[in-house]
Amino acid sequence: MPDRNLINIANNLSDLKQQIRDAEVAYKRKPNSVFLLAVSKGQSIEKIGKAILAGQLAFGENHLQEALPKIAAFPNKKLEWHFIGLIQRNKTKKIAEHFQWVHSVTDPQIAKRLNEQRPNHLPPLNICLQVNLSQQKNKLGVSVDELSDLADYCLTLPHLKIRGLMTIPFPKNTFEEQRAEFAKLVELFNDLNAKNFQLDTLSMGMSNDMKAAIAEGSTIVRIGTALFGTRDQ
Ligand SMILES: *Cc1c(COP(=O)(O)O)cnc(C)c1O
Repeated sequence: MPDRNLINIANNLSDLKQQIRDAEVAYKRKPNSVFLLAVSKGQSIEKIGKAILAGQLAFGENHLQEALPKIAAFPNKKLEWHFIGLIQRNKTKKIAEHFQWVHSVTDPQIAKRLNEQRPNHLPPLNICLQVNLSQQKNKLGVSVDELSDLADYCLTLPHLKIRGLMTIPFPKNTFEEQRAEFAKLVELFNDLNAKNFQLDTLSMGMSNDMKAAIAEGSTIVRIGTALFGTRDQ
């Protein structure tokens, strides 16, 4: 019997990779400068297994409780787990122990805890600062005004390696509006690099705005539904 999950996920993965390569060419990005993070939140261990069979090694999760059994299910040392969700204070220890990346650092207390709780035998935890571009009070992320202080602080923490910025834009209607929003993150990224930072990561772009993000310089696109289909949970 054909394995439909495997066929669908393998097809979606190769389509996505082609779309990424096409966008790199169209927007004069360096070949292979955009990394595909498979967002496996709400997807089963079985589907993650199919994605691994299809060659995908990096996965993003946004709930610790859901992520831990998935991480445990795959002892493959080549896998890379990225935490991309809201971080509760009491979850920082397990995040620092089990993930290689955290895209959603938004305040100094969380950064301090992740730094203290990152095990000594592991390399520094790669982090991105999640920026709230729309300045909405209810949206997650560090405000544009507070970004520079938070970045300076993270630079002092030896068990964290600050890699770049992440954002989840408020949904936009047109491609041009999507691009304009991502351009704001790129400007903040360039401002930091003009100071004492050496950031190399722009985590921006999801299933519905990936192309606009690549056009503006994204280096990690975080793709869930376009790879796995609608979420089960
Ligand atoms: C869910 C999620 C994604 C993926 O969204 P899709 O629309 O399924 O591609 C990307 N980033 C974050 C932070 C998410 O929570």
